[in-house]
Amino acid sequence: MRQPERGGRVYLVGAGPGDPGLLTIRGRDLLEAADVVLADRLVVDEVLAMVPPEKLVDVGRVPAEGRSTRERQEAISRRLVELAREGKAVVRLKGGDPYVFGRGGEEVEALRDAGIPVEIVPGVTSAVAGPAAFGIPLTHRDLASVAALVSGHEGLDKEGPDVDWEALARLDGTLVVLMGVSSLEEYVARLLGGGMEAETPVAVIERGTLPDQRMVRGRLGEIVERARSARVRPPAVVVIGPVVDLAWEEEGEA
Ligand code: SAH
Repeated sequence: MRQPERGGRVYLVGAGPGDPGLLTIRGRDLLEAADVVLADRLVVDEVLAMVPPEKLVDVGRVPAEGRSTRERQEAISRRLVELAREGKAVVRLKGGDPYVFGRGGEEVEALRDAGIPVEIVPGVTSAVAGPAAFGIPLTHRDLASVAALVSGHEGLDKEGPDVDWEALARLDGTLVVLMGVSSLEEYVARLLGGGMEAETPVAVIERGTLPDQRMVRGRLGEIVERARSARVRPPAVVVIGPVVDLAWEEEGEA
């Protein structure tokens, strides 16, 4: 591995699911100490407000005209390498946890190939915090001994490997689907086709932990219609399994 230039380093920091109170103390300290912060689209304004504007590069909001996701990702990785080689303390800020569907793995690979030291600062993932905001535990001694985090493959992550929904239909635990709003109808049909009970409880949690969070609940056989009539929009996590029955009734329930 090549030696780093003086002092340059990249911190891959999880910003948490939305509520700024769920940013870690290490994350906040690094935002204050960084020379430059490259933030993703999912990071909320309250967290971005902790960064002095002159240090902030908002890569998520730069329009990606004519460029593929991969080219865009490579451009971000190159920028991180350049800044670290200038000797800067660089924070790469990502929504939730950087290693949960956040492309954190790809960025770290590029940095390590370039000999740049990297520190990962985990964040509170929306996969856990979204359901928790409505009282849904992902595991429960009587109801679920396994929970799977699944990509619904919508939007930017369409290119990932295919998910074996028919196998997941037999998991007998909790499924937590991220990026799974626009593809809901498709994978619900595959779960039903794979033998999952139409009566299985489902919750769709939109903008979990934010002041305008909402939950839409229903059974697997009816959730597509319910989500459609409630006009659910990303970002949302979809929780499927018996633990959903533990959700508390909330003002945010649509
Ligand atoms: N690294 C992030 C996930 C990035 S993928 C994390 O750990 O949370 C983007 C997906 O995250 C969205 O499509 C949505 O499924 C989910 N998501 C992010 N923030 C959310 C929130 N506040 N409420 C519900 N889902 C959220």
